[in-house]
Amino acid sequence: MRIDVLTLFPEMFAGVFGASILGKAREKGIVELTAVNFREYANNKHNTVDDYPYGGGGGMVLKPEPVFSAVEDLLGPGGEKTGAGALQGPEQLGIDPQGGDLEGGNGEGSGSEGGNALGGATAVPTEIARPQTAKPPRVILMCPQGEPFTQRKAEELAAEDRLIFICGHYEGYDERIREHLVTDELSIGDYVLTGGELPAMVIIDSVVRLLPGVLGNESSAAADSFSNGLLEYPHYTRPAVFRGWEVPEVLISGHHVRIDSWRREQSLLRTLSRRPELLETAEMTEKEREWIAQ
Ligand code: SAM
Repeated sequence: MRIDVLTLFPEMFAGVFGASILGKAREKGIVELTAVNFREYANNKHNTVDDYPYGGGGGMVLKPEPVFSAVEDLLGPGGEKTGAGALQGPEQLGIDPQGGDLEGGNGEGSGSEGGNALGGATAVPTEIARPQTAKPPRVILMCPQGEPFTQRKAEELAAEDRLIFICGHYEGYDERIREHLVTDELSIGDYVLTGGELPAMVIIDSVVRLLPGVLGNESSAAADSFSNGLLEYPHYTRPAVFRGWEVPEVLISGHHVRIDSWRREQSLLRTLSRRPELLETAEMTEKEREWIAQ
């Protein structure tokens, strides 16, 4: 799988793309991750990517040109071109090696929210050997007004060959980006963040961990919460007694049928007490539905 992120802050992805399970997935060649600064597609004197809203009002709006140009450059005529600002690998995603100027947008993004200017942290064009992709890429807009992101959506995206994430900033996007460029709009929850970078990281992490070969035998995505529509059962490890609190006897019985049945019960009860609405769509037998309804 290949994942490109369009962002004004590619350096934010250095740690996430280079560390832990995502970093290992990259090393193993299971996923290719790049962060592209779309300010490099601004194509105007001051490299501005935002402008005042038509009709007035507060906040700035992301202009359509840089976002369309960045996506089109990534896709290229054959859909395989490398973005001019594309970065990959933690070494290139690191903090500005030249201490380049930070040139903010002309609105909400000025100063602390300003993006990196040309010649800043993102100025390392990288030619990457691209695998041939079969399916058209999904172009995903990070947006609090989007479809709520779920484990089902993570599974759906994990079956794709290529994903492009667009991270917003400022007040909003020019509506033509939504209407004519993106295939999906996703929200990570009913709250508003300053930018789409953290939501993109959340989604990428949950998608990549589902790719075959990413998780070792020690962790199984299939048993995780939400995979079967329920919350996962409780876990215990040694010691069997800690400060007088004992591990449930069944778990040290060695009786696997009883253990499986205890875990299933706990999973149902935990879902009932914490997230009862999940039970409406969870995979359950008739007998289980009757039991939980009592
Ligand atoms: N004015 C916008 C609204 O009310 O819908 C919020 C803009 S927010 C300050 C800036 C950017 O952060 C958004 O364009 C989006 O990319 C990202 N963002 C903020 N909250 C998000 C969420 N819950 N899920 C996904 N993206 C989010």
